[in-house]
Amino acid sequence: MSSAGAPRNDPVQIGKTAEPPFVRLPDPKTLFAARGNRLRALSEGHPLAPYLRLLASLSDIQHRVQDGLAAPDMPAADARERIREFGMPPLDRGRFTADAAFDAALDRLLVQTRDIDMPELAHAALLRTIAAQPLMRHAMVGAVLADSIPTEALADHLLIAAALQVHFARQAARLEAERLVAVGDGVCPACGAPPVASLVVGWPGAENSRFCVCSLCNTLWNYVRVKCMLCGSTKGITYRQVEDSDGEVRAETCDTCRGYVKILQQQQHPALEPVADDVASLALDFLVRELGYRRGAVNPFLLGY
Ligand SMILES: [Zn+2]
Ligand SMILES: [Zn+2]
Repeated sequence: MSSAGAPRNDPVQIGKTAEPPFVRLPDPKTLFAARGNRLRALSEGHPLAPYLRLLASLSDIQHRVQDGLAAPDMPAADARERIREFGMPPLDRGRFTADAAFDAALDRLLVQTRDIDMPELAHAALLRTIAAQPLMRHAMVGAVLADSIPTEALADHLLIAAALQVHFARQAARLEAERLVAVGDGVCPACGAPPVASLVVGWPGAENSRFCVCSLCNTLWNYVRVKCMLCGSTKGITYRQVEDSDGEVRAETCDTCRGYVKILQQQQHPALEPVADDVASLALDFLVRELGYRRGAVNPFLLGY
């Protein structure tokens, strides 16, 4: 059984003066395929193996549905420029309207997911999503984009969330990275969504920099270390991990807002993938929740939370 390890200091290496870029835009052509592979690797001997394999199949489908898919509609350049002046992200989740590319991605997802081997309950949820009338689907899209998926209807929203991830990653990939500006703590500068986790990267020229990972469009944005991603506090930050782990996934807890977001040491463990490893490290969520912290990250694939 896991228990709280002693709080550890964040090992910031002194002497390396990396100049990280502010953002790294997603590459939807490789993102979902890599996630599928990571989920499959994590499923080996894992207590959540059947669910991780189901998510791996779903990630593969997120990759495949992009074949020949029309380019997503983008906000007009002058509108993006106006929004930028107000310090807002260019892709506004709150004003999302489905375009032909999104509708096609969702339709393909629903069709291709029918072939996945899945438990009875998940299959029933899939059938409900397929049968959902346009008005109901619209409401489900709204719930995902507002980070307010009802806990009891998580499975029903899984495919809608998957389609939105594909759509927003494809949109974000078409933005100009150098035009993006910081819009606030815990807010994606491309689409305004909260992070799923953060990564300490080993990229050449940006070694040991920390990046938040967007839960919706998968844009990465640079964020200083030992600072709460949720409230911006630099006091009372502690790193926690489950016993017997080597600390590749830890929870950064904040005593100011009592929230936490996971931090992944990708510079030492290049295989780490934020969405996959967040789901697979569910035991860490239970541990930190017992200590009285609330989860500040968003991940529509995280089971039972
Ligand atoms: Zn985003
Ligand atoms: Zn905080």
